[in-house]
Amino acid sequence: MASLRPRRSADPISDSESSDSREGDEGWDDVEQDEEETTEVISLLDDKVFPDVLSMLAYCKESHGFDFLAVRQKLQLDFHGSVKLVNYIRHRVHEGSPVTEDISKADFDQDQFLKPVLDDDAVIIGLFDLPDVVPEGAPAAEGQGASVVDDLLQRNTQLQEELARVTAQFESYRATVAETLDQRWGDVDAAEAEAKAAGDKGKTKAGEKPVDASKYYWESYAGNDIHETMLKDTVRTEGYRDFIYNNKHLFAGKTVLDIGCGTGILSMFCAKAGAARVISVDASDIIDKARENVIHAGLASTVTLIKGKMEEVTLPVDAVDIIVSEWMGYCLLYEAMLPSVLYARDRYLKPDGLLIPGACNMWIAPVADGEYVMDNVQFWRDVYGFDMKAMQSGIWDEVRVLHWPKDRVCGSPAGFKLLDLYTIKTEDLTFSSSWKSELTADVDDGLDGLLVWFDNFFAPSRESQGVGLQSVADEWAKEDKDRVAFTTGPFNDETHWRQGLLLFKHKDGEASSAALKKGTVIEGEVTFAPPEDMPRGLIIKTEWSVAGEAKKHSQSWDMR
Ligand code: SAH
Repeated sequence: MASLRPRRSADPISDSESSDSREGDEGWDDVEQDEEETTEVISLLDDKVFPDVLSMLAYCKESHGFDFLAVRQKLQLDFHGSVKLVNYIRHRVHEGSPVTEDISKADFDQDQFLKPVLDDDAVIIGLFDLPDVVPEGAPAAEGQGASVVDDLLQRNTQLQEELARVTAQFESYRATVAETLDQRWGDVDAAEAEAKAAGDKGKTKAGEKPVDASKYYWESYAGNDIHETMLKDTVRTEGYRDFIYNNKHLFAGKTVLDIGCGTGILSMFCAKAGAARVISVDASDIIDKARENVIHAGLASTVTLIKGKMEEVTLPVDAVDIIVSEWMGYCLLYEAMLPSVLYARDRYLKPDGLLIPGACNMWIAPVADGEYVMDNVQFWRDVYGFDMKAMQSGIWDEVRVLHWPKDRVCGSPAGFKLLDLYTIKTEDLTFSSSWKSELTADVDDGLDGLLVWFDNFFAPSRESQGVGLQSVADEWAKEDKDRVAFTTGPFNDETHWRQGLLLFKHKDGEASSAALKKGTVIEGEVTFAPPEDMPRGLIIKTEWSVAGEAKKHSQSWDMR
């Protein structure tokens, strides 16, 4: 549905610069210094190790009389065929059977040989760099018979084209392997569940593919931009990373479930922290990229990626020790991903298992900024001399996502909702809570709105969590070095969530209430609920009154 704004993309109702414009992108690298990357190519025919594939193949030819490139050429093997040949040879060697150049294609032309015998086999990865097989009957390429290195040099100009082709081949190889593994894990069940869930919606004619109401949502996560924005949000990504790397003992040997793995970043943090197994689920096509990212990181033997909805896939395990997920949307609950995490918590998390994050709380504070109102509301009354008041329609009805200047927050922030993720239920996500704020300065032109944001808390155990309604991220984290917390509020570095501005209705630019003195108390009740016609959207409503004034105010805003 085109009307839903993906939470992380440049947002039409946003008034602020995107966080891309911020300085300080440096510093979001992996804190762990990778050891010097060394590729170890294990000989196809014994256990000798080489720095690259070509020298290994030269060795096999010289010492074992086995010319891999010649066999590949003779059998006219494409990429898949070459992968099968490598795995077949490794099988034979493993069993102690001889490997000779008179191998026939029939010996290894079975899907089982697509599965790597060695994890991260550098020979398979190195197949990318080997010269093409010349089609039968075609004249030998210039340089054939000369050294392989010369051949590679001559073919330098074709490299781009070749790379695109082999990447595509590798993709399909990986998909084939994934499919085989999925089948082994009984993903047939998942397919059935999907068909059933879709069928339950009851709207499809026999034989027609069922409609997925969230299709637009998965599509919004399929492209690179949204993930780039999230990864470049250093407050967010470093928050997860620091918690995971600072608490490696929690991960060692554990099974972790990453819900909504996106590019796979959190899964890879967990794998590097020592997890025995990471199961990464995402329903968006981005998971195909995650698969590659995981392979390139050399973590394929630890991270298992499963494409599908959390509620519908069948995991290869009955229970997990840790669930990690970055599910938070604008104003925390927009896009309604949390129910998927709660579903997985109830179904898969061990009784003493860990949730990352384990708690969130939500804040509201009054704001006043005459300049903002002039620029964004009054502006329409005189546009090059024309009164465009029609453009103001709906202007007060939408939650505006922006990073608000901290000196325009004019009241004490009030924590109004605590989400203890270990205990909260999906039905608790539709709620009403009271809030109370005291003005921290005189407000001469009245209040202009309310600002909403949230904090996230990461604790190494349920017991040590201790988050309260008014817990402030920084202070809470300081209490214990194993904790990490971050805020999306206006007083700290901007995050890609920014804050939600609930702009009060101004009549022809007039402020919504009269001048108020420092210390005045504003009290209200705020309600969060999804719109009936759009379960991933959000309606925020609040009633409020100013101490000493009889008038009760009420207004609602939505995000669709
Ligand atoms: N973990 C990644 C991506 C977070 S964005 C990171 O931290 O960078 C959230 C991701 O969750 C999206 O890729 C979205 O497709 C996925 N997602 C949301 N709900 C899901 C569900 N119910 N099942 C599977 N994937 C889901």
